[in-house]
Amino acid sequence: MKTQLDQMEEEGLSRRDFLKYATALGLLPFINSQESKAFSSKAKGKIVIIGGGAAGISMAARLKSWLKNPQIVLIDPSDRQYYQPGFTLIASGVYNADEVWKKQENCIPQGIVWMKDTVTAIDPVTNEIRTAANGKVSYDFLVLTPGLQINWNKVEGITYDTLGQGNAHSIYDYRGAQQTWKAIQEFAKTGGKGIYTDTYTKHKCGGAPKKICLLTEHYTRKQQAREKVNFHFYTASKVLYDVPYFTPRLLDIYKERNIPIQVNVRVKGVDTAAKQVHFEKIETVNEEKISTFFKEDYDFLHFTPPMSAPDFIRDAGLGWTEGKLAADSWVMVDNETLIHKTYPNIISLGDCAGISTSKTSAAIRMQVPIAAKNLISVMEGKEPMEKYDGYAACPIVTDYGHVLMCEFDFAKQRKSSFPFSLMDASKESRLAWLVKVYALKPLYFYGMLKGYA
Ligand SMILES: Cc1cc2nc3c(=O)[nH]c(=O)nc-3n(C[C@H](O)[C@H](O)[C@H](O)COP(=O)(O)OP(=O)(O)OC[C@H]3O[C@@H](n4cnc5c(N)ncnc54)[C@H](O)[C@@H]3O)c2cc1C
Repeated sequence: MKTQLDQMEEEGLSRRDFLKYATALGLLPFINSQESKAFSSKAKGKIVIIGGGAAGISMAARLKSWLKNPQIVLIDPSDRQYYQPGFTLIASGVYNADEVWKKQENCIPQGIVWMKDTVTAIDPVTNEIRTAANGKVSYDFLVLTPGLQINWNKVEGITYDTLGQGNAHSIYDYRGAQQTWKAIQEFAKTGGKGIYTDTYTKHKCGGAPKKICLLTEHYTRKQQAREKVNFHFYTASKVLYDVPYFTPRLLDIYKERNIPIQVNVRVKGVDTAAKQVHFEKIETVNEEKISTFFKEDYDFLHFTPPMSAPDFIRDAGLGWTEGKLAADSWVMVDNETLIHKTYPNIISLGDCAGISTSKTSAAIRMQVPIAAKNLISVMEGKEPMEKYDGYAACPIVTDYGHVLMCEFDFAKQRKSSFPFSLMDASKESRLAWLVKVYALKPLYFYGMLKGYA
C-alpha cells in the first residue's frame, strides 16, 4: 500500500509538502527551514561530488539550492540509497529489509548530473578523476563523500562472501543485518554463548555493536529464554563508551543485564568451523605495549569489521600522513572548516573525513550546511568562515522501547539538538525510541537528502 509520503515522492515532493508532513510528525525542531531558503550565491565552477550517500546527496541538494548557477556532477555506482541506521532495526526485527532503501534515481536532486560510475583514482594536482567506465573527469571543486571501506578480509577467517558462516554475523552490511535477525531468533531457541565485539579502527556508528547486544539480550527475555543464554561484550577501546555524560548509565545497563565487558581486546580472526574467536589483548605497562592472545568458543557471534577510507583516497595522497588518523588514511581536512589541508578546492565530510568525531549520519546533518557554505566561499575566492563543532549523535537502543540519545561535540561534552530539554538525557527514554524508530528515517529521506534538514 502506498503511503502519503510515497505518493508525494512520486509527484515530486515539494518543500512545502515536506514541511507539512514534518509538522504532523513533530519533526520541525530538526529542520533549518529558514536557513536553507535564505542563502544564495552567484559563484561559478564545476563541482564533482564523489559518492551519493548521506553526505553526497545532502551536499548536492544544498549546493543546488544555494547556487544560482549550479554545475554539479555526482558520481556513484549504486542503484539504491540505504538508510544504514535502519540496519540495526532490521537485525532486531523492528524494520523489514525493504523499509530502509529507496531507488537512487529518486534521491538524486533534479538538475544534478548523475554519472553512474565508480571512481578509481584522483589526481588532485591536475584536478582530474579517473572512473571505471567514463575515463577521465575534470573538476574545479571536489566534494569527497565516498563513505568508508569495510575491510572484511582483515579479520582472518572471514570474507564478505562467507559472512554468516559458522554463525558469525555483522550488521554493518544490508545482507548481514538480515542474516543476523534470523540467527538471533534461532539463538533464543537454542541458547548458548553470545559474543559481541567492536573493532580497533574508527568505525561508523560506534554504538551499533552495543545496540545489537542489548537488543538480543532483551529479545531473549521476551522469548522467556534469557536463562539459556550468556552474553559477553569485547571492546578494543579502553572504555565501553567514551562520552562521560552517558558512560555511567550504559555501564549500569550492562551490569544490570549481566553482560560482562572486556576492554582493550581486538578480534584477530574467527575459526568459523570450530566456532572460536581469536583475540589479542593489548595492555600498556610502564609505557610498553604488551599483547596476550587467547581464544573463546561461541555459539553466536556478532563482530565489527575494521574500516578505513577507500583505497583511492590513500593512493591519491589525500589522507592524513601523520597522527592517529593516518593508519586508515582518513581524508586530511581541517576539523572545523572541512576543507582539505593541502588542496583548498577539495572538501570532505561524512564517514571518509579525517575529523575527530564519530561517524554518523547525525553528524553529517550538521556538517552539510557548514561544508556547503565553506565550499561556496572558496568558489567566491573568500576565506571559509563556517565552523563545525564536532556534533554527532548516536541513539543507543537499550531495549525494544528505549533509547539512550547520546549527543556530543568534539570535546565529548553533551550537546542537545533534539527536543528533549524537559527530560533527563543521561537515561534511556521511550520518547527517544519513538524518535529513532518513527521520525529519523523520514527525516533522512525527505529532509536531509532534500537539503531541508
Ligand atoms: C549498522 C549501522 C548502524 C548505524 N546507526 C546509525 C545511527 O543510529 N545514527 C546515525 O546517525 N548513523 C548511524 N550509522 C552511520 C551512518 O549510516 C553513516 O555515518 C552514514 O551513512 C555515512 O554517510 P556517507 O555519505 O559518508 O557514506 P555512505 O552513506 O556510506 O555513502 C557512500 C556513497 O559513496 C558511494 N561510493 C563508494 N565508493 C565509491 C567510488 N569509488 N566511486 C563513486 N562512489 C562511491 C557509495 O555507493 C555510497 O552511495 C549506522 C551505520 C551502520 C552501518
